[in-house]
Formats: sequence, structure tokens, C-alpha cells
Amino acid sequence: MLVNNISHDLVTERAKRDWFAYWKHYKQGDCEYCAEANCLNKATYGALVTIQPKDYDHVYVIGLCECHGKNVNQIEQPLIELSPDAELIESNLTL
Ligand SMILES: [Zn+2]
Repeated sequence: MLVNNISHDLVTERAKRDWFAYWKHYKQGDCEYCAEANCLNKATYGALVTIQPKDYDHVYVIGLCECHGKNVNQIEQPLIELSPDAELIESNLTL
């Protein structure tokens, strides 16, 4: 599955950590790894994504490792190929 990272305006360390805490709170499985396919690093950042094609009514939170969490903010078309066990959590749940 391909998703768009739309959290490039939330570049602060704080925002990424907050979304990560949110993702951890709601996810069902034990997997704590980066959502990017083929990445075996532990997730430490949260990112906001929409599933391709862009649909802003449904925004999800995924967990990314430090490397991918940083890189996605620097590319113009921040597409992420998700791993099959990546968990997408709807971003409008109440903590
Ligand atoms: Zn990664």
C-alpha cells in the first residue's frame, strides 16, 4: 500500500513524539517497527498519512523510525510504501 506523508508542516520533534505516543496507544499488534516496507528499525516517530489517492477525510497515523521520520520531511512527494504489517490508526480518535 502506498501512502502520502502529509505531516511535513508538523516538523517539530514534539509533534512527531506526540503522534508516536498516540499510535502506540491505539495500535493492536505487538509490532513496533517502522511502517516503511523493508525497514527493520524500531519506530520512534509518528507521521500523518493519507492513503493513495489523497483523501483528506481519512487521515491516519503510522509509526516511523528516526531515519524515515526525518527523511520524509525533505522530499517533495513524500510517498511511503507500507510494510504488510504496518498499522494505520485513524487520527481523529479521542485520547
Ligand atoms: Zn524506517
